[in-house]
Amino acid sequence: MGSDQLQGDVSPRDGISHVAGETTQALWSKTIPQMLAEAVERFGDREAIVFTDKGLRWTYADLAREADRLAAGLLALGLEKGDRVGIWSPNRPEWIVMQYATARVGLVLVNINPAYRLAELEYALNKVGCKAVVLAEAFKTSDYVGMINTLAPELADSQPGQLQAAKLPSLRTVVRMGDGDTPGMYRYDQVLDMGGAEEAGRLDSITASLNPDDPINIQFTSGTTGSPKGATLTHANIVNNARFVVGTMAFSENDRLCIPVPLYHCFGMVMGSLGCVSTGAAMVFPGEAFEPESTLQTVQDERCTALYGVPTMFVAALEHPTFDSFDFSSLRTGIMAGAPCPIEVMKRVISDMNMSQVTIAYGMTETSPVSFQSHVDDPLERRVSTVGRIHPHVEVKVVDAEGNIVPVGTQGELCTRGYSVMRGYWDDDERTAESIDSDGWMHTGDLAVIDGQGYCNIVGRVKDMLIRGGENVYPREIEEYLFRNPKVQEVQVFGVPDEKYGEEICAWIVLRAGEELNEEEVKEFCRGQIAHYKIPRYVRFKDALPMTVTGKPQKFIMREQMIDELGLEVAKTA
Ligand code: AMP
Repeated sequence: MGSDQLQGDVSPRDGISHVAGETTQALWSKTIPQMLAEAVERFGDREAIVFTDKGLRWTYADLAREADRLAAGLLALGLEKGDRVGIWSPNRPEWIVMQYATARVGLVLVNINPAYRLAELEYALNKVGCKAVVLAEAFKTSDYVGMINTLAPELADSQPGQLQAAKLPSLRTVVRMGDGDTPGMYRYDQVLDMGGAEEAGRLDSITASLNPDDPINIQFTSGTTGSPKGATLTHANIVNNARFVVGTMAFSENDRLCIPVPLYHCFGMVMGSLGCVSTGAAMVFPGEAFEPESTLQTVQDERCTALYGVPTMFVAALEHPTFDSFDFSSLRTGIMAGAPCPIEVMKRVISDMNMSQVTIAYGMTETSPVSFQSHVDDPLERRVSTVGRIHPHVEVKVVDAEGNIVPVGTQGELCTRGYSVMRGYWDDDERTAESIDSDGWMHTGDLAVIDGQGYCNIVGRVKDMLIRGGENVYPREIEEYLFRNPKVQEVQVFGVPDEKYGEEICAWIVLRAGEELNEEEVKEFCRGQIAHYKIPRYVRFKDALPMTVTGKPQKFIMREQMIDELGLEVAKTA
């Protein structure tokens, strides 16, 4: 950043798509346990976490006490600073306690997606060499105890903490939640009670020895192809990002944040959990996983001031038949993020949910996660149609295929540099080098446009862009247009192979309840409004679209199904 940069001015200079965040507030050099200890000191008797489904309420002092108990228990298990410990569970109090207990003694928390099945679990545990894993007993169709027993049948004949499993060579200890006993495993509450005076006495000295630049968390990125990659993040990465995220929403200890997004993902654990700790706000969890009605109920009953969600969660909430019966008068702000946020949905969240100061955030796991966020004071039009402006202490440029910075208003690949960029993918120098170049830029694979004032628009994924008859087509633009049709609840646009044009455009649509629309009417809705080459050739109506838990459309699944349906194999390989 040039020395002539005005404080607070984050507009691009010299007409090029390069922006640098303001630096008026210095970066924090602190660890997660330091941040929690400060919250306890300032807000010890204020509410830290509420799990409405479990009737659980803890103050910051309660949370720190539980985290210390578990931390002492983890030491008693023989775990040492730097060891990796997995957590495999939906949103539960134990998840939060694990987050702060592991950080207290420098254990690297490994977030394992609760939707993972055998092959993914085996890969994740082995890739980072987890010595221990803490798991929920079961959730919905996932029998976690059953799955780990399938992978490690040796558990049946093992002493707890002494596993030697052929398929999981690093894993020694399995800890299960819930009341039941399972051979070879500890119960979570046993571990809570396991630490004695000796372990408790070591906590402070271990915490004092931690360095904010030490890795403390590994998050597996969803990756639509190839094996998951373990993004490795330090205390400083996520503590600072969390604090800037809630700062942009003007959070204080009086805020109460409803968190229906998953804790295993940065949206829950960094922007939610760490964000609240950074200001002494309360985290309110409506359940183990997102469900629209319990989320709305919780917002009302707990007088939440803020709500997080991916776009599909907000759509599901707005469309819920009981929506009109809830009182949203306590709501003020929140974040929609994780996937393109349709303008119409943002407008409804503002008008129908009382979230007048809602913001959009954009980022990715590898950048801790947030790089852009709209500010509560941004003009409404910018707030609903862009991902806002650059976050503090972060630098972003938009480049063309040759790596040159493009002029403002021109699209290209967004690259991020700064404190927030991860250490790398765990034990994967090759894929780290493919993502972070030698100058420290993280290549996001997202297509973006930055305007003259520094507001950013995410246009799509580099690899989602399709070329139809030589014209570049950006699915996001067509999705936004189709969204304007009031009958459309959800829409995804993607390319399918075509012999004549190279690619053709396909739209999958979910209609709002009770509405009817046919393929021809959709095309008619587009004619004269968008260029002819952007009008979808194929339109299909679906009950639901394939999405990940974190709201990412799985376009590769849609594409494969269409290729099958249309018998396009020939075109694909042509
Ligand atoms: P994850 O690492 O799971 O957080 O996913 C990161 C990806 O989500 C980004 O690279 C984007 O493709 C997408 N994403 C996140 N936030 C937004 C947003 N506000 N608008 C559009 N795409 C987003």
